[in-house]
Amino acid sequence: MKLFEIQILVFVALLFVCPSFVHGWGVDGHLTVCRIAQPRLSEAAANAVKDLLPASADDDLGSLCSWADRVKFHYPWSSPLHYIDTPDNLCTYLYSRDCKDENGIKDRCVAGAINNYTSQLLSYGKDAASQHNLTEALLFLAHFVGDIHQPLHVGFTSDKGGNTIDVHWYTRKTVLHHVWDDNIIETAEQRYDNSDVDELIDALQKNITAEWADKVKTWETCSSGKPPCPNVYASESIKAACNWAYKGVSENSVLEDDYFLTRLPIVNLRLAQGGVRLAAALNSIFG
Ligand SMILES: [Zn+2]
Repeated sequence: MKLFEIQILVFVALLFVCPSFVHGWGVDGHLTVCRIAQPRLSEAAANAVKDLLPASADDDLGSLCSWADRVKFHYPWSSPLHYIDTPDNLCTYLYSRDCKDENGIKDRCVAGAINNYTSQLLSYGKDAASQHNLTEALLFLAHFVGDIHQPLHVGFTSDKGGNTIDVHWYTRKTVLHHVWDDNIIETAEQRYDNSDVDELIDALQKNITAEWADKVKTWETCSSGKPPCPNVYASESIKAACNWAYKGVSENSVLEDDYFLTRLPIVNLRLAQGGVRLAAALNSIFG
């Protein structure tokens, strides 16, 4: 068996044997971001994505959008790349101050990871491509552009982005971080989408062409340089975390309709922005 075939086998095996630990948007959140992005790709970007995806994905980026969560145990170095810890209660983000891991190693945060995998993917079709695993670079980028839009992925340091804040989601015990990864999306699907993620995706796609149509251009562009611009996305997230996610919540808060109905528009907006910006990034990378 050739080395390349062995690599593919190991890669496919990893997809199935790894426990699924949710981090960042849950599976449906990531799926939504990737499903919004893929139809927005230019021909060149769509061809590159098709070329880089393993055959098992059947040209569906969404099917592997949570791959980065599933490989965390096999790639322990990748765990800190899913989020950014910012100083408690400041409600601001600064790359130079905040983009580091728990050991203080610079650039090891979701914004740094987006920059790194973007520059790896820019080698696609060039000699330098052989130095990287561009399939993994694509799957990491697609996942991390989603994560950086989850407000509590750019949260406070001491509560680990709401992971240590116990709350009740209606009657169920959970933590605030999980409410934003999964519960708000799940409750919305149950109430408005017949528990079907495809209906949620359809509804967001309709909003992108209607309610948000005049904003999409600003989402897609970066004030300095080409997309992606992770520092902009991270700054928006910590603002939303302070204004919406943390707001009015304390240890053992019971979160119900008041919280759900006012926060759902933020979740919908961030999922849509994540999808639009992932497409803009891939279109910019692959030309
Ligand atoms: Zn993640």
